[in-house]
Amino acid sequence: MSVGPQNVCILGATGSIGQSTLDVIARHPERYRVFAISGATQVEKLIQIALQHHPRYLVVLDAAAATSIAAALKAAHCLTEVLCGADALIAIATAPEVDAVMAAIVGAAGMPATLAAAKAGKRILLANKETLVLAGRLFMQAASASGAVLLPIDSEHNAIFQSLPESYREHPYQQSLTTAGVDKLILTASGGPFRTRPAETLASITPAEAVKHPNWSMGRKISVDSASLMNKGLEVIEAHWLFNAPVAQIEVIVHPQSVIHSMVQYRDGSVMAQLGTPDMRTPIAYGLAYPERIAAGVKPLDLLSIARLEFEAPDLERFPCLAHAFAAIAQGGATPAVLNAANEVAVEYFLAGAIRFTQIPELIAATVEQCHAVSDESLEALLAADQLARSTALQLIGRWS
Ligand code: NDP
Ligand code: MG
Repeated sequence: MSVGPQNVCILGATGSIGQSTLDVIARHPERYRVFAISGATQVEKLIQIALQHHPRYLVVLDAAAATSIAAALKAAHCLTEVLCGADALIAIATAPEVDAVMAAIVGAAGMPATLAAAKAGKRILLANKETLVLAGRLFMQAASASGAVLLPIDSEHNAIFQSLPESYREHPYQQSLTTAGVDKLILTASGGPFRTRPAETLASITPAEAVKHPNWSMGRKISVDSASLMNKGLEVIEAHWLFNAPVAQIEVIVHPQSVIHSMVQYRDGSVMAQLGTPDMRTPIAYGLAYPERIAAGVKPLDLLSIARLEFEAPDLERFPCLAHAFAAIAQGGATPAVLNAANEVAVEYFLAGAIRFTQIPELIAATVEQCHAVSDESLEALLAADQLARSTALQLIGRWS
């Protein structure tokens, strides 16, 4: 670890998690330095971040964007070096100077750099849940072999991490939940914007309605996932890998206020929970400073104004995506990778107005059905399954329209 402020690499700096990370870091310049940032399409935002934080490296996907960003930075006398392409993402995630990597790219696109950071033994602040859905076993093996410290940023997993025994949370693969005295992990779900919407009106949901989450402000893809409950399905798979948790020991419960971020139920009847105002800067600050605590700029929780906390069972009939995710992890092999890829295609086409909200679970189920033969879990097989699922989903959409 370097002397002085820790060098942080933010993969996906222009996104919702990326922006919240920059906000927390800016509150603690003596502790953290933005060493490298990446983005995909938001060129102006990348320039602004570079001018404010002066990272050593900035990575963007395509060469044309890199050229225009480099020109703008040069004109402003900013010394940030601009790189482009997937290899450059891996280079900044594994650079020897980097102490911590915030993995906040959305989707399977974030997997290669996140996996590379795990192999390089970095402290990883893991927001990109799709990496675990696509390649959970490989990712956990890589982190364990290199000694990489994993700090879950997803609020539910961060809550569970905080509620688990310390010895367990740091070495889940050397023990089991049961030997640690844990009966089950309870993942809370807000239920999303359509929790109470009648089944017969779900087909007419518009993208604008779907991205308006009642409690959290997030990127568009995860907002749609939250509305379909696929987000909770991805999170069950995420919890399965992160905490070495058999799926039978993971329960999902709807909690519309999003105040309890998740819970751990122990054998003696104790239930440990982590509560807070729904603001991603809390888990981000936790991940950055672990095991210390630092200010995050988050509004203190006001229990009196919240007054009541409610709980209900998830409705798998109106929101079949959650059931599809449970089925995929039970099937194992490359099936979660197929589920994830089909979902990414479905969300993209839903957001573009090309398929209906209710077609998201239909597309996922049909794609999993057609791609069911893959059982190998090598990286090549998983990436091939991801590609096959994407082309299968596209063909299905083509046939539907
Ligand atoms: P956003 O859509 O807000 O941001 C995504 C980031 O990824 C942006 O920086 C974007 O760049 C970049 N990006 C998009 N596509 C690619 C690509 N193909 N290659 C490289 N970079 C790309 O997403 P969020 O911040 O909401 O979510 C990020 C991750 O964190 C997701 O995996 C999500 O599930 C997870 N997460 C998010 C939470 C939240 O509150 N937002 C909560 C829990 C988990 P650009 O903007 O320049 O196009
Ligand atoms: Mg979450």
